[in-house]
Amino acid sequence: MSDFACAAGCMPGMDDDRSFELGDYEGALARWCPGCGDHAVLTAVQRLLVAEQLKPEQTVFVSGIGCSSRFPHYLKTYGFHGLHGRAFPVATGVKLHRPDLNVFVVMGDGDCCSIGAAHWIHAIRYNMNMVALLLDNSIYGLTKKQTSPTTPQGFKTNTQPMGSFLPALNPLTTMLGTTNVSFVAQTAEWIPAHLYATLRAAYHHKGLGFVRILQRCPMFTPSLYERALRDPSLIELLVHDDGVNAPELDGIYGNRIAHDPGNLNEGRQLAEDSARIRLGVFFRDENRPRYDEIRRPPKVSATERIALLNAELDKYAV
Ligand code: SF4
Repeated sequence: MSDFACAAGCMPGMDDDRSFELGDYEGALARWCPGCGDHAVLTAVQRLLVAEQLKPEQTVFVSGIGCSSRFPHYLKTYGFHGLHGRAFPVATGVKLHRPDLNVFVVMGDGDCCSIGAAHWIHAIRYNMNMVALLLDNSIYGLTKKQTSPTTPQGFKTNTQPMGSFLPALNPLTTMLGTTNVSFVAQTAEWIPAHLYATLRAAYHHKGLGFVRILQRCPMFTPSLYERALRDPSLIELLVHDDGVNAPELDGIYGNRIAHDPGNLNEGRQLAEDSARIRLGVFFRDENRPRYDEIRRPPKVSATERIALLNAELDKYAV
């Protein structure tokens, strides 16, 4: 990955007085439906890349399958549009072998919480230094309105036309109940200031910064967040110096709860109550073990690597 010209056209050894602008991160034209919340997330991510001046050739976006998993195509960084539910295994492999890269994982709710659920749980436990984004629109959008694990009970879909049978899975409490969890936050794509501040906090977290992003799908779940969009009193912000603070929102979102993200039990209680939409950092602990630190691969030169490879291949020589 690092030995050749990158997607942005730079070469190894290129002097690093470069500065990056929005155009340096823009990939293909995004083809999500008009009004889709994925557009807002892409904009916030591009803003983060510019603000942090992440080198395009040092940045990788890994996704699974679904509407949101088109993400890597729309960025001029490295990308891997993988298999349904398998974004985490690819991302952990990349990070383990190349700890110097900035790794972002982008998943949808069906992708992460259903077929990819086993990988999800273990990725939380492995706690590798990456950012994971769950773009949760509570539906399988790409396959045209099928019930997903986070579809609200009673919501009519093409696979359960009488209404979703089961209570929706709560990704927050699932993660907050997983061993070695280190950062769990929730934000909403229609509140750009909060979305950006949350992405930034996840990026600066040492460990797996997991952000569930409530996402509108005007095509298949248009009613889901309609009331919350019109009525800010339905939203409650978790605020703390170690959490997410967006002063621009002071005059709009008056419902606030002071929550210390170091308090796991309180974070769990706040995540359990689904009567209100709560946004902010539910839990954060940078002292949890990280698999990428424990298993950091030894640094070997290109010559040593070739010698090792030759030794391996020689075993099969006839
Ligand atoms: Fe977005 Fe829904 Fe359209 Fe998919 S189907 S691109 S999630 S609006």
